[in-house]
Amino acid sequence: MVKETKFYDLLEVSPDASDQELKKAYRKKALRLHPDKGGDPELFKEVTHAYEILSDSQKRSIYDTRGEAGLSEQGGFGGGGMDAQDLFSQLFGGGGGGFFGGGGGGRQQGPRRTKDLVHRVHVTLEDLYKGKTTKLALTRNIICGKCKGKGGKDGAVKTCNTCHGRGVKITLRQMGPMIQQMQSPCDECSGTGEIINMKDRCTQCKGKKVVPEKKILEVHIDKGMKNGQTVTFSGESDQVPGAEPGDVVIVIEEKPHERFKRQDNDLITEVEIDLLTALGGGQFAIKHLDERVLVVTLVPGEIIKDGDLKVIHGQGMPSVRHHEPGDLYVKIAVKFPDHIDPELIPHLEAALPPRKPMEKLDKNAVIEEVVLAEPDNRRRPDQDRDDEMDEDDGEPRVQCGNQ
Ligand SMILES: [Zn+2]
Ligand SMILES: [Zn+2]
Repeated sequence: MVKETKFYDLLEVSPDASDQELKKAYRKKALRLHPDKGGDPELFKEVTHAYEILSDSQKRSIYDTRGEAGLSEQGGFGGGGMDAQDLFSQLFGGGGGGFFGGGGGGRQQGPRRTKDLVHRVHVTLEDLYKGKTTKLALTRNIICGKCKGKGGKDGAVKTCNTCHGRGVKITLRQMGPMIQQMQSPCDECSGTGEIINMKDRCTQCKGKKVVPEKKILEVHIDKGMKNGQTVTFSGESDQVPGAEPGDVVIVIEEKPHERFKRQDNDLITEVEIDLLTALGGGQFAIKHLDERVLVVTLVPGEIIKDGDLKVIHGQGMPSVRHHEPGDLYVKIAVKFPDHIDPELIPHLEAALPPRKPMEKLDKNAVIEEVVLAEPDNRRRPDQDRDDEMDEDDGEPRVQCGNQ
C-alpha cells in the first residue's frame, strides 16, 4: 500500500506500475501537455516532476512509504530537481533548449556567450623564427549605437505572439517508436522572438539591434610559436544584446618550408656536397631563416659519408617562452661524379685504402664473365622500397650523429 497516489494519478497509472509503464505513460502525457502543443506549462512541469520522482527507485520508495512530505524531508528531492525540459529532451532526444524562457538551453552555466570567432593564419617558418606582428581585418557585429541594441523606439519591440518570444517553432513527429522533436525558426518573427512595427524600427540597424563593424586586430606572433597554437582576443567576437561576446581565436598554421623541416624546437635540413669535399674537406653554406648564412668548414682528413647526420647546436627554433634555441640537424648527401678520367685513377689508388680483394673462389667453381648494365627504370625491383625509405628522410637519428 502506498501513502499517497498523487504522482501516480498525474501520470494516470496504478501505484504498482512498472518502470516501462511509467515511461510510456509519461511520454503520452508529456506529448499532450507540451507547451508547444498548446498544453498548460504548469501541468507539464508537475507531470514531469512526478515522473522524475517515480522513475528513480530510491525516490519512489520514499514517496511510496512517506508521501511527498517524506521527499522534502530528504532535502532536495522535493522541489527543484531536474529541469522539465531537460528530462523531456533526455527522453525523446533532439536538441532541447528554448522552451522555457528564450534561447541558451537549460544546461548552460552563467551568462550566455556568443560564439567564438576562429580564424586561421598561415605563417611562414621565417616569421615563426623571428617573430612578427601581423594585422588582421575582421568584420563582426556590434550593438547598434543608435538604438542601444533595442532595435527601435522604446516600447516598439513586442514579444512575438506566435512563438511566445522563443523564436522557434517545435513540431513533434512520430517516427516508428521514436518521437522526434523538430525545431525550426518562427516564421512570424524570423526567429528573433520579437515583432517591431516597420515605422518604429531603428533606421541604422533596421531593427536587427546590431550593425557590422570592421576591426583591425594586431596579432603578435611570438618567436617559436608552433603549429596549432592560438592567440585569443577576449570578447572581440560578435556582440548581441543580453549576451557576453565570445572571443576571437587566431590559430597559427605553419606553412611548409622548402629547405627546413621543423620537429618541435629542432630544425632539419638537407645539404648536398660533392665527393671531393666529402673526402678532402671544404666548405658549404646553409642559409638560415633570418638574414644569416651559416658557413661550415669540413676539416681535410675527416670523411663525410653519404647520408651522415650532423648537428649544429643552438641553431634550431627558439622555444616558445624563453626563446632558448633548439638544434639544427644537417643530413648530408654526397654527390658522386658521373665520370672520372682513368688516367688519374692511380692518384686515387695512392690516396685511398686498397681495393678489397675478390673472395676466394672454390677451385671447382665454373667461372662465367658477365656485364653489368643499367636497368630499365620502370622495372626496377627495388623501386617501391626506395620510395618507402625516402619517406623517413629528415628524421634526426641522433644516435648516429658522431660529431
Ligand atoms: Zn539600431
Ligand atoms: Zn515568433
